[in-house]
Amino acid sequence: MPELPEVETIKEDLRELVVGSEIERVEVIDPSLVEQPSAEEFASRLEGVRITGARRRAKHLIVELGTGDSLVFQLKIGGQLLLVPPVEEPGSALMLVLYLDGDRRLFLRDETGFTRARLLDDDELEERLSSLGPEPFEGEFDARYLPREIGSRRAQIKPLLLDQKVVSGIGNIYVDEILYDARLHPRRKANTISEGEWEALHAAIRSNLAAGIEHRGTTVRLYKDVLDRPGEHQNYLRVFEKHGQPCPGCEGQVVREKVSGRPSHFCPACQREDGSGVDGQLELE
Ligand SMILES: [Zn+2]
Repeated sequence: MPELPEVETIKEDLRELVVGSEIERVEVIDPSLVEQPSAEEFASRLEGVRITGARRRAKHLIVELGTGDSLVFQLKIGGQLLLVPPVEEPGSALMLVLYLDGDRRLFLRDETGFTRARLLDDDELEERLSSLGPEPFEGEFDARYLPREIGSRRAQIKPLLLDQKVVSGIGNIYVDEILYDARLHPRRKANTISEGEWEALHAAIRSNLAAGIEHRGTTVRLYKDVLDRPGEHQNYLRVFEKHGQPCPGCEGQVVREKVSGRPSHFCPACQREDGSGVDGQLELE
């Protein structure tokens, strides 16, 4: 599913290509897309309205409208927004078509059918976003934030980082890469992580997400930008879906195991479950 770098890329594309356009007509092809309000009200409140901005909060893509409403997308694994033209009209898995001025159309397609959209006023939007943790690049998310918020928890670090109430925007691809960089086993309990490891984790979160943005996202399977182009960051992954391949940092091999129900990829030599470093020195709390 699109994570922070992919939604950020789509948001930038919308700013460049779509913001300023008027929505002339709306076709809701799959009503299960629309969570709020009804599909009929959703369409009627969008028609004749100008798109005034685009922003991202966590993994939410927020299209700002001249009426003050916000069109909020949660793109799931197969969720794609495609601008026709220049992109050729997609033929299948269509959920929504926004007919824009200038004979252009913005298609939402999702072959998994899990993408959802909401049309919210200011209060509803604020309510919807209120429980989200800080953005990883904001000042609030400094190196002391994670140890302060979750440093006493006995839960495993991987599901904590995926919890959008803890920190926003990280999903299953980037979290494996982040934990590899920080040399933390995905099952490490938060309350056993040392000060130095928290600092390495904070740096790894920012550097991995920044690289993902720079490479315009990760296309492992279905992710495409608004012009139907794949991202490039899949070429830079070290552990995600690299099980059976050599670890780039040691003589060992990357493995894949379920952690808290999610397939997880890591190097058991570089990321020791007991928290001992590669030199075998146990880091005391
Ligand atoms: Zn290794």
